Amino acid sequence: MADYRVPLKDMSFLLFDVFKADAMWQQLPKLAENVDKDTAEAILQECAKIAEQEIAPISQQGHETGVSFNHGDVTTAPGFKDAFNTYVEGGWPALGGDPQYGGMGMPKILTAQHEEMLCSADISFTLYPVLTAGAALSLAKHGSEELKQRYLTRMYAGDWSASMCLTESHAGSDLGIIRTKAIPQDDGSYSITGSKIFITGGEHDLTENIVHLVLAKLPDAPAGPRGISLFLVPKFHVNDDETLGERNNVSCGSIEHKMGINASATCVMNFDGAKGYLIGELNKGLACMFTMMNFERIGVGIQGLGAAVRSYQNALEYAKDRLQGKAATGLKNIGKEADSIMVHGDVRRMLLNMKALNEGSRALSTYIAMQLDYATYGEGEQQAKGEALAALMTPLAKAFFTDLGFENTVTGQQVFGGHGFIREWGQEQLVRDARITQIYEGTNGIQAMDLLARKVVGSKGQLMQVFIDEMRAYINENQNDNMQEFIEPLTTAVDDLVELSDYLLEKSTHNVNEIGAAANDYLHVFGYTAMAFVWAKMAAVALAKQATGDDFYESKLKTARYYFTRLLPRRISLIASAKSGCDVLFDIDDDLF
Ligand SMILES: Cc1cc2nc3c(=O)[nH]c(=O)nc-3n(C[C@H](O)[C@H](O)[C@H](O)COP(=O)(O)OP(=O)(O)OC[C@H]3O[C@@H](n4cnc5c(N)ncnc54)[C@H](O)[C@@H]3O)c2cc1C
Repeated sequence: MADYRVPLKDMSFLLFDVFKADAMWQQLPKLAENVDKDTAEAILQECAKIAEQEIAPISQQGHETGVSFNHGDVTTAPGFKDAFNTYVEGGWPALGGDPQYGGMGMPKILTAQHEEMLCSADISFTLYPVLTAGAALSLAKHGSEELKQRYLTRMYAGDWSASMCLTESHAGSDLGIIRTKAIPQDDGSYSITGSKIFITGGEHDLTENIVHLVLAKLPDAPAGPRGISLFLVPKFHVNDDETLGERNNVSCGSIEHKMGINASATCVMNFDGAKGYLIGELNKGLACMFTMMNFERIGVGIQGLGAAVRSYQNALEYAKDRLQGKAATGLKNIGKEADSIMVHGDVRRMLLNMKALNEGSRALSTYIAMQLDYATYGEGEQQAKGEALAALMTPLAKAFFTDLGFENTVTGQQVFGGHGFIREWGQEQLVRDARITQIYEGTNGIQAMDLLARKVVGSKGQLMQVFIDEMRAYINENQNDNMQEFIEPLTTAVDDLVELSDYLLEKSTHNVNEIGAAANDYLHVFGYTAMAFVWAKMAAVALAKQATGDDFYESKLKTARYYFTRLLPRRISLIASAKSGCDVLFDIDDDLF
């Protein structure tokens, strides 16, 4: 496998040339205190060292060895503990955390790049710190002052990690039917009893304590999602002097044997009257958990991208070396018996698909991260717009980037021919690791429904209108000869997205099944259009900087042309499919399948 190299230049291009993150930080006083361009560049460079030198080298061994289970204890793969300690010593768990409790308060637009680097290096490793970061976010937003003082500081310090305990054997997508019970105790705590499955990082040997965020219901709670509460359940109790006390009644019953992310512990967690503490208000637990879940959803999108970036780097190096066949126009490699496979149109197609979709996904994830920063740190109209766009685009980030991530890891495997199927080369690991990203944290089918049913139909198109207005304003500002090759197809794509949205809004008023039938195609139409918007932005900067003679901008421009010519047209067949209606799905009886 090629050594992983963090695409630092592209990240810096996006942050400072395309999205002008430094100007945004200056505008937002809470961020201006913590970050400027020099700090951000230094953070990216230091983080790249950890990803390239500490985490990427242990990835393949982790895939081969996996985690082991012994009487309730879980041992992580060789090298994981040392790499985790180095990560903690570098202060990385605090990166996006609340400064009041020891966090560094860095914006999402920066931490999104950090997450991508870690995921390209190894998704399994990354799951341990990113779940902790997501849990910390929920605790910081909804927890009592006492809980925050006691737990948040140690989570940011990297002493303690966290897990997210939602899923039960009979309750996955439908959390309203969970059975885990919470019984109020005289001391104000709750006794938690139930069994959770598929819990990432539920048990392991990386940290001395694990903070579980658990969804449960009080005996008299309303039925469905409105009766769910959120509890913090520590593996070890914490004494008043902040030392660790007795073990709580929570244990790992077993771990799963999986298709991928082998070095991530996926645990059955049993709560047998474990002591838990309420986070937020009773029966409002799902909303509190959504603070974490929305963070993780964007993070899972970035996992898909991370795996695809690694796969592309490997495939490119391999394609340059592999000699097979001759160029259609005659042998180019004079004196050799064959050309490198880079001469073949189909190999170039595969590599350019990966390059254009990866760079487009990175740009779009950076744009979405920026909206989250406006939502968190902005004020007034700017904040409201950030909130609207972040809400609209969270399901898009999760599903679109992971569908493309999986497609790209398979493409990267294909570039290797038979060697892609052989474990030694590492491409099969990336396919396996990327596959789960389409499933967990709400399947991509659920994300598509969230986008079309809740965000688009649910807001009567208002959230989508915020994004359409932004794209139209950009189109109007960039009506010049140089940009026409991008602005024209972008305009058509935006017009078609508006038309499709209106069409589905209208159709759904007659038959609600139209939403579920169209949701997946709709999400992808939206995704390719949004990606065209950020590719146009990148092309505009590349055009302006072309005169510098730097190859980076030439490559960007040519990749933009590839995106608009070969990939954006995918939306045309998706639109036809989205409009085909629900009858063909529901007119066939179940026993005729
Ligand atoms: C490796 C791994 C790690 C995980 N980590 C965690 C974790 O840390 N914490 C945690 O709580 N959970 C975790 N999960 C659970 C994961 O989030 C769920 O598996 C996932 O949300 C889907 O739930 P399910 O498996 O019960 O599938 P189901 O809900 O049974 O879904 C089955 C199929 O039906 C579709 N479907 C279901 N309902 C609808 C609907 N309303 N509309 C359209 N389609 C629908 C789904 O899209 C899917 O295709 C993990 C799972 C795995 C495999």
